[in-house]
Amino acid sequence: MDRGLVLINTGPGKGKTTAALGVVARALGHDLKVAFIQFIKSQDTGESRFLEEMATLKPGQVYYSRRGQGFVGRNPSQTDRELALEGLELAITLVDKYDLLVLDEVNVAMSLGLLEPSAVAEFIKNRPGTVNLLLTGRGCPDSLIPLADTVTEMLDVKHAFRAGIPARKGLDY
Ligand code: ATP
Ligand code: MG
Repeated sequence: MDRGLVLINTGPGKGKTTAALGVVARALGHDLKVAFIQFIKSQDTGESRFLEEMATLKPGQVYYSRRGQGFVGRNPSQTDRELALEGLELAITLVDKYDLLVLDEVNVAMSLGLLEPSAVAEFIKNRPGTVNLLLTGRGCPDSLIPLADTVTEMLDVKHAFRAGIPARKGLDY
């Protein structure tokens, strides 16, 4: 078996989560086992519906769960911290059962101070050798970059939101 890789999608532009979902599609097409954990987010989205449906159709092959309560301001609550920790603990319990773990928005949880980057670093280092990890979210701490194999920074050249176009169902959520 090949060594598992660590991928990070970060930066201010759109596409971090959607690119992760593209990797999920690719992995499932090869019958890999995929767990997708969303930090921060609480919203029912197109991807959460899709992943929940896949998890029902393919129990044991697809797992989806989220641990968040939506927008986190400058003063995160105790609940915000607890949920972020729960997300990481969930990842720790799942990591030997899946080929690919996606920790969506985990970078945001770290940059907001909900999770210590060192705790995520330990998780990355201690994972079984063949497990692939994909971390998303803007503001990835610099300390994680040396642990990754592939790091992509999405560039925000232009976004419809700034032209007054609200988030679109099916495109943005
Ligand atoms: P997506 O989920 O669309 O791939 P993302 O994961 O790269 O986006 P996030 O920071 O998680 O970006 O943002 C989630 C939401 O904010 C999505 O609805 C996304 O379209 C929107 N968004 C992403 N980048 C921007 C931006 N630069 N300006 C405004 N809205 C953005
Ligand atoms: Mg995202």
